[in-house]
Amino acid sequence: MKPQFIFDLDDVSVDMIDKVHRILNPLCGQEHKPEDFYTYDFLTMYPGFEKPYLMEALVDAKAIETANPLEGAVEATHLIREAGGEVNIVTARRWHPNAESATEAYLERKGFYFDRLRVTGYQQPKSEAYKHIAPQFELMVDDSPSHLTDALETGIVNQVAMIEKPWNAAAKHPRHSSLLNVVQEYLSR
Ligand SMILES: [Mg+2]
Repeated sequence: MKPQFIFDLDDVSVDMIDKVHRILNPLCGQEHKPEDFYTYDFLTMYPGFEKPYLMEALVDAKAIETANPLEGAVEATHLIREAGGEVNIVTARRWHPNAESATEAYLERKGFYFDRLRVTGYQQPKSEAYKHIAPQFELMVDDSPSHLTDALETGIVNQVAMIEKPWNAAAKHPRHSSLLNVVQEYLSR
């Protein structure tokens, strides 16, 4: 079996916080900037609004379809392919009613390379989605400390890397500036 890699989408491969604040700020009368989001639970930054209402606003405004890839992320997926690895995209986008089809179309349109896409629930351990894919994974990259802790606890992920964001400033996982930076460092070993 080829070496397996697990990459997150939102705020690792795709600039979702940019879409979130642009869509929700005017709706909720806030002026948050991306660097203000000190919690991974973004929607709590908009108190007084029900989460289903905010999620529906993100769906209606086509947040998934219109978010921009983060710099170097597309290239990072192709570097893994060229090195003989497989890319598993695992994303907690279950909040969107058509998460799989919208995400798959987006990844193809933007030129990402990926072998598999798995969509999980927001509060669900991501390992439930990838543990059946392969017995062992080389590396997982995410911005959520809990998903990385879950990965290490499974014992089937050899190494984790965390993309630094305001909401994970206190977490202890190895910190990196970008997915491309992680992949280049991994491949240069
Ligand atoms: Mg993420």
